[in-house]
Amino acid sequence: MSTGRYAPSPSGRMHLGNLMCCLLAWLSAKSKGGQVLLRIEDLDTQRCPRSYADAIVDDLAWLGLAADGPTPPVYQSDRSEIYQRYFDELSRRGLVYPCFCSRSELHAAEAPHASDGRIIYAGTCRKLTAAQRSAKMQQRRPAWRIKVADELIAFTDMHYGRQQANLAHECGDFILRRSDGVYAYQLAVVIDDALMGVNQVVRGCDLLSSTPVQLYLYRLLNLTPPSFCHIPLLTDAAGRRLSKRDGDLEIAALRQHFGSPEPIIGLLAYLAGQLPKPEPLTAAELLLLFRPEKVPLENIVVPQLL
Ligand code: GLU
Repeated sequence: MSTGRYAPSPSGRMHLGNLMCCLLAWLSAKSKGGQVLLRIEDLDTQRCPRSYADAIVDDLAWLGLAADGPTPPVYQSDRSEIYQRYFDELSRRGLVYPCFCSRSELHAAEAPHASDGRIIYAGTCRKLTAAQRSAKMQQRRPAWRIKVADELIAFTDMHYGRQQANLAHECGDFILRRSDGVYAYQLAVVIDDALMGVNQVVRGCDLLSSTPVQLYLYRLLNLTPPSFCHIPLLTDAAGRRLSKRDGDLEIAALRQHFGSPEPIIGLLAYLAGQLPKPEPLTAAELLLLFRPEKVPLENIVVPQLL
């Protein structure tokens, strides 16, 4: 059985880019006779009120893309104990260590080629002695990092083809748990997809570089990874990625403007290369036409809509 998932972060209402991701995840699973589960990625509870999660459930149903699986859906904020079990296992195996570096120390130690804003962690706290660690523990609450290996991790993305990365050069030892106790997305997403039985992940290509990080954790935790299919992002005419700040492309505004889901599904279908022009249709009608190979590789520019 193909099992896909929606994994929205409810830090606002969904925008057209989130809808594209949901639509393609739904089409991908349903075209194989499968199901789509919903997981609310609200690890950062401060930024993710339940009201936005409720709105996501309502918006998906309105669009004809309601999730299968349990009601209420899975909330990451309910699952700290599960994450802790896996975190403890990695700790017991000596793979996790506390990191006391402040944000400014991290920037100061930044590798010169991390020009895109990513920080490649230099491994400063990996080298601390037990005595140094306990002294620092008195002064601040640490974040917790996992040791990465200096090796290539390769996989085949269903849309973008062969990919490979060496985590030691891409990000260095990465954070599993923040200093405020919140588990990192990279850990939670791996555990959740595996425990929920998700075997195909469809998501924006901004997460392509996270995939080797997650594959590394799948291997360490002896869990079976899903297949990965990354999809292009939606941008404005200036090439800027749509974000929740683009209020006019938010679902509330789109619902009000179009009044029914069919024109929105038709627009997404057109942008995803499935229709020669935007024409209203239902998600169920689109399923009969769905051709994943027609989804473009380049990011998709959204025309002025409203
Ligand atoms: N929660 C993430 C987001 O909304 C998606 C994570 C994933 O698909 O792995 O961007």
